[in-house]
Amino acid sequence: MLNSFSYYKPKSEIEIIETLKSFGDDAKILAGGTDLLVYMKQQIAGPKVLVDIKGVPDFSKIDVDSGGNLIIGAAVTCNDVVENQYIRNHFPVLATAAKTIGSYQIRNRATVVGNICNASPAADMAGAFLVLDAVVIIATEKGNREIPIKHFFVGVKKTSLQQNEFVKAIKVPADYKDAEASYLKASRIKGHDLGTCNAAMSRSKNGKIKIAIGSCNITPVLLPDFDSNNIDLANILTTAMNSIKPIDDLRGSKEYRKHLVQVFIKRLLNGKGHSH
Ligand SMILES: Cc1cc2nc3c(=O)[nH]c(=O)nc-3n(C[C@H](O)[C@H](O)[C@H](O)COP(=O)(O)OP(=O)(O)OC[C@H]3O[C@@H](n4cnc5c(N)ncnc54)[C@H](O)[C@@H]3O)c2cc1C
Repeated sequence: MLNSFSYYKPKSEIEIIETLKSFGDDAKILAGGTDLLVYMKQQIAGPKVLVDIKGVPDFSKIDVDSGGNLIIGAAVTCNDVVENQYIRNHFPVLATAAKTIGSYQIRNRATVVGNICNASPAADMAGAFLVLDAVVIIATEKGNREIPIKHFFVGVKKTSLQQNEFVKAIKVPADYKDAEASYLKASRIKGHDLGTCNAAMSRSKNGKIKIAIGSCNITPVLLPDFDSNNIDLANILTTAMNSIKPIDDLRGSKEYRKHLVQVFIKRLLNGKGHSH
């Protein structure tokens, strides 16, 4: 059952901030609602006020800025990302990761920004954005601030967002356009389930390998950079094992997760990951 709540749909960024300021802790941002409404039905969350961000037209856009960076607005859905030709051509790992989220119907509502703001350790977009060195663009009372996504996740379902702030977009640096990047996910069933484990990898033009691992710690994990001209597999696997702390849960045991991480890293390094 849902508790009663008030619903606001501001038409501008400033109006969103003003609404958040007026209601403080009682208010929560609503994007696609595929996480939030479930929590409300389960009484895990009980906001008295929902602030829908989908009323700001710019937030539904996928753009490229003057510096060639990819900008994905806060209301862009997973299916928008899957179907966007520019993303498929130049940042295909984002489409690959987005396509693994839930079902077609879920992806029609679920936003990619909502996926990272929900901050599940298993969030499928987290790894893809981490290995592309994405930057989270945050609207605040004092204007915008930007933080690297590697500093955005601070705990299970916890982000570094402060009171009266929200994410307006996510930026993927132009440096990663056409970079090799791929993604792998294991889940108990196809669709409708978070992953038992996931991993993403990118190999940038300046010789850096980035690897991110999901569902194996309290946040998605980004490993330190590795040198693509001098790949030391044993060192990469040891670093990965030292960086994760998987748990046993209904999706898999910690031993299985450790095994999957090693298999995924080898596959990604051997070009056997998925990249659309
Ligand atoms: C059946 C089902 C299957 C699913 N399968 C998967 C899966 O395979 N992989 C996966 O990763 N997820 C999965 N999910 C979870 C969910 O669909 C995703 O996390 C989704 O991307 C969340 O986006 P949303 O727009 O629906 O967020 P919402 O539910 O609207 O919001 C989620 C949280 O983020 C906050 N938030 C949203 N947008 C912003 C913003 N712009 N600024 C600040 N805070 C914000 C909200 O306040 C809320 O706390 C599944 C969910 C269901 C119901």
